[in-house]
Amino acid sequence: MQPSGEAHLGNYLGALRPWVSLQDDYDCVFCIVDQHAITAGGHPSEMPANVIDLAVSYLAVGLDPERSIIFVQSDVQEHTELAWLFNAVSPVGDLERMTQFKDKSQHFESIPAGILNYPILQAADILLYKADAVPVGEDQRQHLELTRDIARKFNAVYGETFPETEALIDKGVGRILGLDGKAKMSKSLGNTVGVLAEQDEVWERVRTAVTDPQRIKRSDAGRPHVCNVFTLHGHFTDEVKRTEIESECSTAEIGCVDCKKTLSDSITDSFSPYRERATYYRSRPDEVRSVLLDGATRARAIAEKTMIEVRDKMGLDWQVRFD
Ligand code: SF4
Repeated sequence: MQPSGEAHLGNYLGALRPWVSLQDDYDCVFCIVDQHAITAGGHPSEMPANVIDLAVSYLAVGLDPERSIIFVQSDVQEHTELAWLFNAVSPVGDLERMTQFKDKSQHFESIPAGILNYPILQAADILLYKADAVPVGEDQRQHLELTRDIARKFNAVYGETFPETEALIDKGVGRILGLDGKAKMSKSLGNTVGVLAEQDEVWERVRTAVTDPQRIKRSDAGRPHVCNVFTLHGHFTDEVKRTEIESECSTAEIGCVDCKKTLSDSITDSFSPYRERATYYRSRPDEVRSVLLDGATRARAIAEKTMIEVRDKMGLDWQVRFD
């Protein structure tokens, strides 16, 4: 995940919550991708705090440094080295076909090369660890296909080295719309709320949520199944209460403000243990730093092994050169 500070609701539902469960079945590697984040601009002075805030979010929601490797991308330099080497087997046409490249490049008069090459660095992030599987949202499936292509091409040219990593798609989540009910949840669009937000802040955000557009007056019957507020209840409110809301909305017995208040309370309650753990970690920056340094050491041990093999196969090994 890119470091843009504290994780938000969309990050939680789409990534962090399923990642926590994956730890039961896989040896997981969780990376904070600061080198990807530089392609989005932002001021260098903001990066360190954004990285730490995301690390705190990771730990607060239950990514467990005892069971998983948690680290920062730029602390393991093999990521950028492998990305450069993958340029040798990555056709520009494939990169230009990526939907995200087409979308993002529209915002630039002169397109930075990093926007085009972004999926090559993603491929390196994944293949450096010879990952069997990677959890991705639907919007990242195309980039994972490219990763698989890069692995195939590399293997064909230099010999069998990388697996064709499988996509783990969490079908239970689906597309999570922001509180505006239109776009995917995103901090930059301001249509979400922080996972570690306090009760007042959650309510400030949730009260702005867009509801059923046909329910104009309090006395109008609502349609919960077209209302994004009701969809969000599905992730945070218990079934009994949801069934009650569904029925009361359809008969105009409950108003949208009360319905949003219930959602706000459900979100606040669900995230309460995370806020407590975040308070713990924020008061112990040394502990967070040591998690990230230990994670980088463990990640580097795997990465170095892969790179020795890659350099050897590509004729770039200095020891072989002098044999
Ligand atoms: Fe949506 Fe709730 Fe209003 Fe019904 S009562 S339209 S579910 S916000």
